[in-house]
Amino acid sequence: MKRIDPGTGGWTNDLLGQESAGVSRLRFTSSLEREFRRFLHGQTVRQARIAFVVGVAVFFLFGMLDVLLFPDLAAEMWRLRYLLVGPVLLLLLAVSFSPLGERYLSELILVSIWAVSVGVIGFMAITAAHDPQLYWGGLMLTTVVSYVLFGFRLPQAALTGWGILALYVAGDLGLIGSGRLQLLNNVVGLAATNILGMMAAYIIERQHRKVFLQSLFLEREKRELEKANARLKELSYEDALTGIANRRFFNERLSEEWVRALRHGYPMTLLMLDVDHFKAYNDREGHQAGDACLQAMGMLLSGFAKRPGDLVARYGGEEFVVVLTGTSGSDGWKMAEQIRREVMDLRIPHPASPEGETITVSVGVASTVPRPEDSPEALVAAADRALYAAKESGRNRVVMA
Ligand code: GH3
Ligand code: MG
Ligand code: MG
Repeated sequence: MKRIDPGTGGWTNDLLGQESAGVSRLRFTSSLEREFRRFLHGQTVRQARIAFVVGVAVFFLFGMLDVLLFPDLAAEMWRLRYLLVGPVLLLLLAVSFSPLGERYLSELILVSIWAVSVGVIGFMAITAAHDPQLYWGGLMLTTVVSYVLFGFRLPQAALTGWGILALYVAGDLGLIGSGRLQLLNNVVGLAATNILGMMAAYIIERQHRKVFLQSLFLEREKRELEKANARLKELSYEDALTGIANRRFFNERLSEEWVRALRHGYPMTLLMLDVDHFKAYNDREGHQAGDACLQAMGMLLSGFAKRPGDLVARYGGEEFVVVLTGTSGSDGWKMAEQIRREVMDLRIPHPASPEGETITVSVGVASTVPRPEDSPEALVAAADRALYAAKESGRNRVVMA
């Protein structure tokens, strides 16, 4: 049994591929078929409504033909046209504009077609003694229109078309009495119209089904693409919360900068920062305030990466790193001090802090002129140890490794 894949919130391309056979067969599996009918309704409701209005108008206008063709019988024909069938059509048309009517538009149109057909057979009966065949064209017209204009599916359209033929045969035998040859001629004409109409309806419905499946494919592709994009974003180098570089980018750049410094004999300085008592801040002020605080930190820090080799990144949680290529340890220390002071100057209230009243940071600084036997990881570890020492010795301070 085919099932809707709940994980992707819709049909998988595999399942949809299997459904392709339903295009030519004019039948999908039941759950997709239901969706298709909704889709078809949406696609055809406007066109069907316009055709409905025009059809009713044409029926009313044909009254002029009654007078031209049969002046003597016009009174009787007009009674049928304008007092019997006409009001039924107007009523159905009016109902079709109600909210419920829109849902049952096909059914309302179907009943209208029957009403028109009965009317035309009535006209043929009234004019039976003269030339009833003049009105037979009305049945042809109604049949053709049923197949192509109202967005009926093939079974609905065929039921209508062949139904008109059956109605006509009954009407002719009972009321009109065209005679055997004429009846045969009319039946063959209507039957041929039905067969061609069914072909047209088949092509139209198949096309609708194809478009429907394609739209599902597209929708699914779109969803996959959105997922892939989200995944790419995750894998990218940007930290989603602060907008600065993430740890992944830091790792890659650190190695590159290390090699560059090694080649040129530059010093490399690393600042590792950690917000003091941030857990208490989060607990007291809420996670959203915590996030806002981290965003403020990211903004402040990014102002410190001025030179091409500089990099500011979020190392994780409430920890940040600043990489300074070509900057000496003492200059790095000065920068760390400046950062520490500027963080205090932000004056983000931290009532839960055991030490100060505002958010502060501790910074560990490590610096080296890389040698081939050293590694950037050792530099990170040294900065981390210095940071730990800063925490141990009272926080809100800078410690040099
Ligand atoms: P210390 O002064 O020793 O650094 O203490 P601390 O509370 O800052 O350190 P700890 O490691 O105990 O707590 C870090 C907290 O940071 C815990 C965690 O809830 C919070 N945190 C980590 N990442 C995020 C984040 O993205 N958003 C928010 N709002 N909080 C975060
Ligand atoms: Mg921490
Ligand atoms: Mg902390």
